[in-house]
Amino acid sequence: CGIVGVAGNICATTILLDGLEKLEYRGYDSSGIYVTNGENGFLCKRQGKIANLREAVGKKQHGTTGIGHTRWATHGAPSQENAHPQVSDSQRFYLVHNGVITNAEDLKERYLKHITFTSQTDTEVIVQLIAYFVEQKQLTTLRSLQAVISLLEGSYAIAMMDRRIPEQIFIAKNKSPLLIGLGDDANYLCSDALAMLPQTQIFMEIKDGETGIISSNEVKLFDEENKAINRSTYQVKIDA
Ligand code: GLU
Repeated sequence: CGIVGVAGNICATTILLDGLEKLEYRGYDSSGIYVTNGENGFLCKRQGKIANLREAVGKKQHGTTGIGHTRWATHGAPSQENAHPQVSDSQRFYLVHNGVITNAEDLKERYLKHITFTSQTDTEVIVQLIAYFVEQKQLTTLRSLQAVISLLEGSYAIAMMDRRIPEQIFIAKNKSPLLIGLGDDANYLCSDALAMLPQTQIFMEIKDGETGIISSNEVKLFDEENKAINRSTYQVKIDA
């Protein structure tokens, strides 16, 4: 139901948890984060309140780049296993998703019969498929994401991390909200500007069908033909 992301900030974990709390009003049944400091990655998911997640994360896991999610279950019951980030079999890709993939079962049947799934979500199909195209078909991570979204039917806002490229967040969108926030020493991601207003007031729209890569000092957007897009930014004014 909500997505947050931070690329390149020493307090990524705090910003993600605070951001998720700002999205609580939208409703959710579970939440999770994946955060990395470049060397080590840390995944934590919990059913119920963000407070449960905050407690499970503890005080030590302050990564520099990470993604977070509040889930409102559509495929599979509310549970810790079904919470996001969903992880590929290879433990290389971590993905959060808002929306519904209507052809997930078909894609699973067609490409992923050899994979043992650990959740009942439509989301796990996305991350396993991205891993499959990278690991079996030798596509780059971005190309694999683009190939996979061209197969997806339904709605999605996606943020994904690749353990081998820990400073980047990969994104894609179709019919579910997702925005990029631009900061001085970090860039941000959110499904609702409210979540990142304490960090920045400068945002960039992502349009349906586009993909992108966010790092601390760069934001890149691509159209369906993988051509780079030059998107202008806008300022969100907060009432004093
Ligand atoms: N369809 C996904 C799931 O059930 C995402 C739901 C959401 O938007 O929170 O896990």
